[in-house]
Amino acid sequence: MTTAEQLALLGGVPAIEQPLPHEVWPPPADEAELSELARQRNTDISIKGNSGPIGRLEADFLAFLNDGARFAVTFNSGTSALLAAYFALGVREGVDVVGPALTYHAALSPVFALRGDVVLADIDPDTRGLDPKALQAALTDRTKVITVVHQWGHPCDMDAILRIAERHGLRVLEDCSHAHGSRYKGRPVGTFGDAAVFSLQANKAVYAGEGGILVTSDPQVHDRATLLGHYRDRSRDTVLDEDLRAHWVTGFGLKLRMSPFNAIVARHALAAFPARKEARHRCLRHFGEQLGDVPYLEPVHVADHVDMGAWYGYKPLYRPEALGGVPRSVLIEALRAEGMEVGAPSGPRLSTLPLYARPENPLFPGVPKKGIAPETGSHAEHVEQHALSLPTFTDWPGDRTLIGQYAEAFRKIGRHREALVRYAADPSR
Ligand SMILES: *Cc1c(COP(=O)(O)O)cnc(C)c1O
Repeated sequence: MTTAEQLALLGGVPAIEQPLPHEVWPPPADEAELSELARQRNTDISIKGNSGPIGRLEADFLAFLNDGARFAVTFNSGTSALLAAYFALGVREGVDVVGPALTYHAALSPVFALRGDVVLADIDPDTRGLDPKALQAALTDRTKVITVVHQWGHPCDMDAILRIAERHGLRVLEDCSHAHGSRYKGRPVGTFGDAAVFSLQANKAVYAGEGGILVTSDPQVHDRATLLGHYRDRSRDTVLDEDLRAHWVTGFGLKLRMSPFNAIVARHALAAFPARKEARHRCLRHFGEQLGDVPYLEPVHVADHVDMGAWYGYKPLYRPEALGGVPRSVLIEALRAEGMEVGAPSGPRLSTLPLYARPENPLFPGVPKKGIAPETGSHAEHVEQHALSLPTFTDWPGDRTLIGQYAEAFRKIGRHREALVRYAADPSR
């Protein structure tokens, strides 16, 4: 530290030299991917069954899960796959789904399109996923499905959640959209529940652009989810139950299938995933070590029995009491001035969104719905208001210098705590 050092916010030299963006995702296509896309253009641009790149992606995805599920069905988005999963698990009017209070809304929003209702339960501050004790307390006599989201890549406490599900005869849906490649006690997430969905949207670790994949070992779930989103060939060829298969011409009225181009992109992303995951782990392990001596950060907690898979951003918690009570927004402003790519995570608590908060279902006025009051003092609120969203560095050792500069920017702000407190207190800034 030189005597001349000053916060970049106050006119000093930024700690981070590399211009934004720091997280570049998804990565560009290689020649093999581009030529396969070009070939597909002149072969079949609308696959009605599950042949070609659609079937190959589904088979590769089951192998990726160590064949821990029997069936994989692609959809045009993770949200569509979730809609199909909820339908297949029996969500309808009069049915409650219990899910986490803080997550990406699409994990639960499709429930309302099926006339079901959502009950939110608090999260566990360590996993940032559904807290089993809060789940137990949130069960109603209408609960039929528990949705777990392996939030930001960290698997939920599956032993406890599956025990509750078994005791009460409930179905479990895993939303693995943040958790491609994550493992709980050695077993891949997506193989614990009655069904699991992985979004393959562009921001996700395995990306199609737009797309989603549903996996299950339950033939009834497979058949019903397929019929909801894939009328004609796919239902005729793959629905197992003869009585259900009678609907193959119409399905259950919706067409939610993936395009072959998206399947090709996803298959290449899946093939590239293991090396990218390894690089992310190296980057983020190093980052976590570097941040260990920043007193106003609580580094991301990773339980010993889990593998964080792809990660999904690096999201430590801010401890304002260790930085003179400076608001998170001012900290973010100061970090951005230092050249950092940082923000507050984008998804608010679901109870703050009108679809959840209001006591009527806007799709079906008159269908009973409880409406959710905003919870205060919850872990969900604490994480929502204190998390920082940092890049998921992916290039090892290429990102090493940048990671070092991020850590240095955090330390620099700690050294200038008094100046930042004065800045935050100045109403004229
Ligand atoms: C991205 C995401 C979804 C929705 O997936 P789309 O493919 O964008 O429709 C659902 N749940 C979670 C947790 C997600 O991150």
